[in-house]
Amino acid sequence: MRRRLVLVLLLVCALAAAAAVMLVSSLSTQVRPERGRLISITSPTQPRAAGDDGRVRVRYEAAPEADREVAALVRRDGFAEAAAKTLTRELALKRDVTIVFGGNPAGPFFDRTAGTIEYPWAFVTTTSELLDANGYRGADLEQAVLDATQFIVEHELGHALIDQYDLPVLGREEDAADSFAAFVAVELHDDGEKVIAATDLFAAFADTAKAAEQVTGTVADESEFSDPHASDLSRFYTISCLVYGADTARYANVVANLGLSKTRLSSCATQWRQASDSWHQVLDPHLD
Ligand SMILES: [Zn+2]
Repeated sequence: MRRRLVLVLLLVCALAAAAAVMLVSSLSTQVRPERGRLISITSPTQPRAAGDDGRVRVRYEAAPEADREVAALVRRDGFAEAAAKTLTRELALKRDVTIVFGGNPAGPFFDRTAGTIEYPWAFVTTTSELLDANGYRGADLEQAVLDATQFIVEHELGHALIDQYDLPVLGREEDAADSFAAFVAVELHDDGEKVIAATDLFAAFADTAKAAEQVTGTVADESEFSDPHASDLSRFYTISCLVYGADTARYANVVANLGLSKTRLSSCATQWRQASDSWHQVLDPHLD
């Protein structure tokens, strides 16, 4: 299923994604979304407001017609409420964090000022389209959309925790947010395979960009290297390696057919241990 993309489908996706990016860009001057990347906004943190009791909350805004199907899927599944409940129970949060589905069209991102995770419905639709082009169908597609969306929500929650607890970030914050989402999948949900859909989505973004270059005849510019995130393909391999490293027997499936070298595979367990130990070290003092 992984990366078996049909070129024709990809080209259609590329054009649709390019149109979506242009639309989103026109709607926001605050951030510049690019190829569906996950964006975080750096702005001063607000003190805890009156009535703020340190909970993770979920809010669903009405979905436009084009996104109604995926919106119904996300609401029906309720993974966001479950994640919100778990994190509220486990962590002593300093301020509320509200996950807003149907939020700012430039999302997904964590807005430090508002304490919100802005998650536009259109991004869930794009996720569904790209995973469909990647070979997911029917119930598998629905589950993959939910898993990928959950991973991204948890990536944004990683940004929220870094902000709330003033956690040290020794390296790219975006990498730390990815490792938090992988950490949550393995340790909190005990289901590391859930990251497969998210990594397939990153691979699809990378393929879409490549196909768009072929359509437009343009060559990749240097934005890939100046972006605050690692490249989509790098994230694809790094997250897969991390989860595999958590339990190389149980999660062999996560790296199957990726073509990772033996040297890289042999480093995954160490990378996981490092990530897991680090998250425990910084979060354990905040456990409820
Ligand atoms: Zn991010």
